[in-house]
Amino acid sequence: MIDNIFILGKKLDEQDSLASFADLFHRPTSKIGKQLVYFCGNSLGLQPKSVRQYVEQELLDWQNLGVEGHFHGKNPWFAYHHFLTESTARLVGALPLEVVVMNSLTVNLHLLMISFYRPTSQRYKIVIEGGAFPSDIYAVQSQAKLHGFDPEEAIVALVPRAGEHTLRTADIIAALEAESNQIALVMLGGVNYYTGQLYDLEAIATKAHEIGAMVGYDLAHAAGNVVLRLHEWQVDFAVWCSYKYLNSGPGGTSGAFVHERHANEPDLPRLAGWWGHDEQSRFLMEAKFVPQLGAAGWQLSNAQILPMAAHQASLAIFDRATMPALRQKSEKMTDFLFKSLDQINPNNQYFTIITPRNPAERGCQVSMLMNNNGRAIFDYLTEHDIVADWRNPNVIRIAPVPLYNSFSEIAQFVNILQQALCS
Ligand SMILES: *Cc1c(COP(=O)(O)O)cnc(C)c1O
Repeated sequence: MIDNIFILGKKLDEQDSLASFADLFHRPTSKIGKQLVYFCGNSLGLQPKSVRQYVEQELLDWQNLGVEGHFHGKNPWFAYHHFLTESTARLVGALPLEVVVMNSLTVNLHLLMISFYRPTSQRYKIVIEGGAFPSDIYAVQSQAKLHGFDPEEAIVALVPRAGEHTLRTADIIAALEAESNQIALVMLGGVNYYTGQLYDLEAIATKAHEIGAMVGYDLAHAAGNVVLRLHEWQVDFAVWCSYKYLNSGPGGTSGAFVHERHANEPDLPRLAGWWGHDEQSRFLMEAKFVPQLGAAGWQLSNAQILPMAAHQASLAIFDRATMPALRQKSEKMTDFLFKSLDQINPNNQYFTIITPRNPAERGCQVSMLMNNNGRAIFDYLTEHDIVADWRNPNVIRIAPVPLYNSFSEIAQFVNILQQALCS
């Protein structure tokens, strides 16, 4: 049975037109120098080999030009964020005006909520997944408090039905309808970090607007993982990090999206800084803040050149591979993973997969809820050169990434998992 998985994996690798992209990445190795099977791109993506050269260029300009690098470097630092705009727009389905790379993820989430969570005494609630990433929960709680509301009352937490692990779109829609006059903001993760569920971002945005609410998405697990059309879906704002599927390094920079219809609202409340000021007059150092049009107007500080250089290296790879092609391979990989897991787990004898099977409802990640000995099984995987991801109380997450993982690696993982289950 397992032999079939290896044979099929090899065949799928031979048909894979993106296979050569794997060579563009450094691979972590074990203590004795064996290449690890890395399925943790949902947490920290691998390093593109080209990152060194991009960062080196900026180090060189700093070394040789000092302050002159702002205007006379190879990639003048004054304009640096512009160099990432076009690729970022393509990545999330946005107009260039709608995106900017800046700061880090939770910071950007707060900056955009300051502008787009504008509660009144009637309409003040924020809808979020009960199982959202903790940073997002803290962020919405503190925003509610900032405006004088009790988070207990102001936060509407969506939870799956009893006995289910993921949210049904119809239930999300019903929750919005149920409190339609009180909801000010719908703020969901695009792909849930724990279950791997991809929400129907278009349907949710449409319903949010229908009830008169704003809608924002945290795309930390969606950017670089699934195809996004933020402009077309009419999303008000979105944020994401660059270090998960976007492979731009630990603590890397972040992306932000603000829909075109908010591009020119100079009176919208925002926390302002000089880098969001009109570029033509920035260095006149005048006291009156004139925001740039679009997402760039939310910038606070001058660009973080080194993390942004790493991000640029990675975005160039996404531009070459293209999201639709990556997603196509990704769906195939996760499908192969599902089917292979079924073979070693008849009747959910050892674990339950809590990630939806339907490709439209998931990214690449598969989360397995282990029936017994979850931690021991995870440790066995680690000892056998599989880098997976453990979440308490008993979930193993596996993310086959189309840029650098192969079908054969999936076969290898399933084989070792079977050994672990039977040992
Ligand atoms: C990874 C992740 C974060 C992490 O936030 P940072 O500000 O980058 O530390 C926040 N929210 C979600 C949904 C995440 O997946």
